[in-house]
Amino acid sequence: MIYKHDQTSIQGFLEDTSNLKTGHTPGVYFPETTDELSELLKNAVKKHQRFTIAGNGTGTTGGRIPLGDYVISMQKLNRIGEVVQLSGDSAYITVQAGALLDDVQKKVEQNGWFYPPDPTEKLCFIGSTIANNSSGARTFKYGPTRKHIARILVVLPQGDLLNLRRGTCIADKNGIFRLTLPDTGHIEFQMPQYLMPDTSKHNAGYYSKEGMDLIDLFIGSEGTLGVVAEADLMLIPHPEAIISCLVYFKNLDDLFRFIRLIKDPENALKPRAIEFFDKNSIAFLAAQYPEVPSDSSGAIFLEQETTPETEETDLDILFEKMESCHAMTDESWIALDRDEQVRLHEFRHTLPLLVNDWLSKQNESKISTDMAVPEEAFRELFDFYCESCEQQGFVYIIFGHIGNAHVHLNILPRNREEFLQAKALYRKFIAKALALGGTLSAEHGIGKLKAEYLIEMYHERGIQEMVRVKKYLDPFLVLNRGNLIPVAYLETENY
Ligand SMILES: Cc1cc2nc3c(=O)[nH]c(=O)nc-3n(C[C@H](O)[C@H](O)[C@H](O)COP(=O)(O)OP(=O)(O)OC[C@H]3O[C@@H](n4cnc5c(N)ncnc54)[C@H](O)[C@@H]3O)c2cc1C
Repeated sequence: MIYKHDQTSIQGFLEDTSNLKTGHTPGVYFPETTDELSELLKNAVKKHQRFTIAGNGTGTTGGRIPLGDYVISMQKLNRIGEVVQLSGDSAYITVQAGALLDDVQKKVEQNGWFYPPDPTEKLCFIGSTIANNSSGARTFKYGPTRKHIARILVVLPQGDLLNLRRGTCIADKNGIFRLTLPDTGHIEFQMPQYLMPDTSKHNAGYYSKEGMDLIDLFIGSEGTLGVVAEADLMLIPHPEAIISCLVYFKNLDDLFRFIRLIKDPENALKPRAIEFFDKNSIAFLAAQYPEVPSDSSGAIFLEQETTPETEETDLDILFEKMESCHAMTDESWIALDRDEQVRLHEFRHTLPLLVNDWLSKQNESKISTDMAVPEEAFRELFDFYCESCEQQGFVYIIFGHIGNAHVHLNILPRNREEFLQAKALYRKFIAKALALGGTLSAEHGIGKLKAEYLIEMYHERGIQEMVRVKKYLDPFLVLNRGNLIPVAYLETENY
């Protein structure tokens, strides 16, 4: 197995997109087989080694950044199998954890199939998207990654291989999982005992639901309970055609009414994505796209799967809803062919690039929210975001997955003083979202950056439930120290 420890070749493993700068490690291992990975973990305690698992570094929460532990890079475990058709409308593909999402999506598409999870940034590894239960724009229709995983092969913290197929290990009525591992033998433990929030997306802390499947405990556990080595991803037939559009509104109330109409269960359109850009995001984009209307208060990006036979009817319904909500129809962007849709996707992806460019000139980090709330509370949180930022005179943008009552607010500080003020405000945003029944993280996870805030959501009891599960599966705290559960809770003897 390759092992690197010279600083120049391992420097990249101290980074992701979180801007966390405290990472350090003695070295990085690159297992090429699951057995090598298992051996590494089996010997960990004997060799006094702990590990942080590294995907491709696109995470936003410092999850893969080691705080002094060794790193396991998943990049050599990158094989992609062949599509296996199960029926006319279902198939699966087996992939190793280090396969790039982009490569997997392209391969299944070439075979006429579709893998729905799409967390915007395609240069991430499949294993990380499972460890983080990643979502993205299409989550509105298809749910997060966990909905599309049929099997995972996990290497547990003490090196046991757990081949876990969905449906084969379910918590009993007392919440107990029972299973037999190749080396350790029979184990049983209780699932976490807390309620998850009633939001349409939630990705903060271990999954917990009555009668839950053990596979769902590992999915979204941010590498704290095991290393995902391989997975079977479920596929559906590739949609025949897509209608993509960016619809501008002069008035924000009209925009919110449009969303309500589009999401109405009676509506014949069933979009797969409903995304939002506020007026400040639009102003950023106007720098590169002069055709953007300057008098717009916000825009909705919408994607509807269709067929050549239904496209015209779907467009008629869309235009009718746009008109009834006074959308800026003439200025809006309707993309029907592939090239135009690629241009519209580029437009969306230009926003983070422009923001990062702006920030690098200020030499400051952004403060970014990832909270979601129940549908009926969304407008209150949204107005609170805007009013608070306006009052303090911040430069900010709001964009993202409004279909799931989940947007990202980015405050862009111009100096250290504003950064500190924004950080204080961030705490108020968390308090507000939680008071509205929301979640601290809807999709990006907790990592190291947000671990200190998790207590506000789960309180002492909930955190101790996570500690109990973590300590059962990883008694020597070998994996991903500092992620999700604040280190102080793992080091105390009170569990
Ligand atoms: C511009 C941009 C947009 C984004 N948009 C979205 C979005 O819309 N939705 C969304 O959900 N995310 C989004 N993300 C976040 C990010 O892309 C995802 O979290 C992704 O899953 C990270 O993949 P990675 O390979 O880069 O993982 P890394 O950053 O390398 O690691 C992420 C975490 O996963 C753990 N990990 C990695 N591999 C494994 C494994 N095999 N087993 C166990 N644990 C493992 C790591 O330890 C770490 O904690 C965005 C990121 C960027 C930069």
